[in-house]
Order: sequence, then structure tokens, then C-alpha cells
Amino acid sequence: MAARIRQLARDAVKSTVLALATAPPVYGHLQRRAWRDRPLSILCFHTLGGDADLMDAWTVLPIGEFRRLVAALREDYDIVSLDQALHGPAGTRPSLVLTFDDGDIGLYDHLLPLLRSEELPVLAYIATGQIAEATPYWFDRIVNALQGPGERRIDLAADGLGLWTIGPEYGLSRCTVIGQLLNRLKTVAPDRREALVAQVLEQAAPITPPASPVGPMSLEQLREFAACPHVTIGAHSHCHNLLDQIPLAEAAASIALSRQLLRDWTRQDVAHFAYPNSNHNAELRAEVARQGFATATVLDDSLAPRDQDPFALSRINIGRYNRLDRLRLRLVGY
Ligand SMILES: [Zn+2]
Repeated sequence: MAARIRQLARDAVKSTVLALATAPPVYGHLQRRAWRDRPLSILCFHTLGGDADLMDAWTVLPIGEFRRLVAALREDYDIVSLDQALHGPAGTRPSLVLTFDDGDIGLYDHLLPLLRSEELPVLAYIATGQIAEATPYWFDRIVNALQGPGERRIDLAADGLGLWTIGPEYGLSRCTVIGQLLNRLKTVAPDRREALVAQVLEQAAPITPPASPVGPMSLEQLREFAACPHVTIGAHSHCHNLLDQIPLAEAAASIALSRQLLRDWTRQDVAHFAYPNSNHNAELRAEVARQGFATATVLDDSLAPRDQDPFALSRINIGRYNRLDRLRLRLVGY
């Protein structure tokens, strides 16, 4: 009870601070201070879904929310490509870059029409293994399997990975538990993980496939998406494993293969890279530089100072259920 009261008090203080900090006079001051040194503001999304899709996937932002977010951001920022943000002439307003990780089909279904109508530049980091094999990565297969009504109990205790109760209600708490389960499985070595994923899928049965499952674009869709003049294609590895958890030679090969396939598929240069799940270290940063990429981005919910290592550029992460006022604080360096 006491813990619950402390939590409520903490939430109330947080809400008050957020409300004060994002109110016009204070926020204007925070903006001027944050923009003084012209940091890069790079946002990281994963994919978009329909407004009516009941997908408890942290990676899927409803298209209506994305539209409103872009409109709000355009009041303060010029939304530009990463190359323009890095090398273009400084405008009178701060610039902001939108990036999308992985290459989900939502980019084709929902984002592409918007890019065309709004002339909105984006950088999409594509993980190529799922597209080459036309099969979702393990994490998307699990997300799809855990949608739909009803409670699921996933017991991985025998493997030391705990007991998970998912649902029964649609919403933030179910989405959070699914995310925690994925994070736990991400840390397992890839050769051990397949069997665990199979166990999760078996225990999740019977599976009601969601109306709009997460999963990769087809190769044809990727080609059409990449041909849009507002799209820059970046690489995101072939395997999408945590690259600092596998041998460096394997990680290097996965990075190089994703770039080569993307060049072959799209007939475009591929100059930018994003570390899957943001996992990186000095060896990986050096490897990405050695392979001739111009930049690589991470996810640390920060603005990127102008003098930052170009192979570890900061990005601010945005997913389903994230609050706009929280993002506004991140955008001024808090
Ligand atoms: Zn990714």
C-alpha cells in the first residue's frame, strides 16, 4: 500500500513537472538553450499501422498519431534528410530527421502515401534477412502470436527465463509485457533462441493472426518504397542480432551483406547504418567506418551534439503509447 502511494506521488510530481516544462514560457526558454549549439535532432520510429488496428506492438505507431506528430513538429522544425542536416546550409529554424528501423510492411502501406503527399523526407534502415527470406524475424513472429483477445501464459521457467502473463486486456500493460519478453529473449544467444521462440509460439496457440501483422515488405514493395524521392535507404544488418553479442567477423559480414543487397535491390548508394537494438562497441563503430559508411546511429533518447562521433549519432526513440510531452522534453535535451 505504502509503495502504491509513493508511486502515485511520484507520478503526480512527474506530471506536474512535465506540464510546467512543456508550457510556453518555460518550454520556449528550454528550446532556445537546446538549439544554441545546433544539435541534430534525429527521431527513431519503427513502423506505422492503421488507426483501428489493435496491435499491442511497441513498434507500431497509428498513422493518425504520426500525422499529428509531424504537423506539431513542423511548427518548430524543418524536417530534412540526414545528409541535409549534416551538410546542408543552416536554416533559420532547427532541422529534424525522421528515421524508421527494420523495413516493416507498414512503411509501404501507411508511410509511403504520406511521404508522397506531404513531401516528407525519411531515412529507412532496412534489415535485409527478413526481406530476402520473405519471413518476419523471430521478434515479429512472437508479437503477432501474442495479439488477439484472452490471457496467455508463457512458461520459460525451465530455461531460467521466467513465467509471463500476457493480457487479457488490450493496452499499454500488455504491450509492455510483450516488450519485456522480447527484451529477455534478445539477450539469449541466437543458436539457443530458436528453440525458445518455438516454445513461445507453441504456448501462445491457438493463434488468431492479427488483421495487420508485423513483418517485412516484399522485395517489390521495398523497391517501390526506395524509389520514392523522399526516401533515403540505410542498412541495419542482415541478421538483426545484437551485433556486440556475436563474433565480430560475423557481425561485419552481416553489415556488409545488408549493404550489398540493398545496393543491388534499390540501385542506390547506402551510406548510413543503424545498429540493431542500438547494441554497439568500439570495434563495431570502427568496422562500420572501415566499410565506408558515412554515419551510424544509436538509440539513447538524446539529441546529437555537432561534435559527436558520426558512428554513434544519438536518436530519440518513439513507439506506441509514448506521450507527446515526454518527446517534447527529449527534444530540448531532457
Ligand atoms: Zn531494428
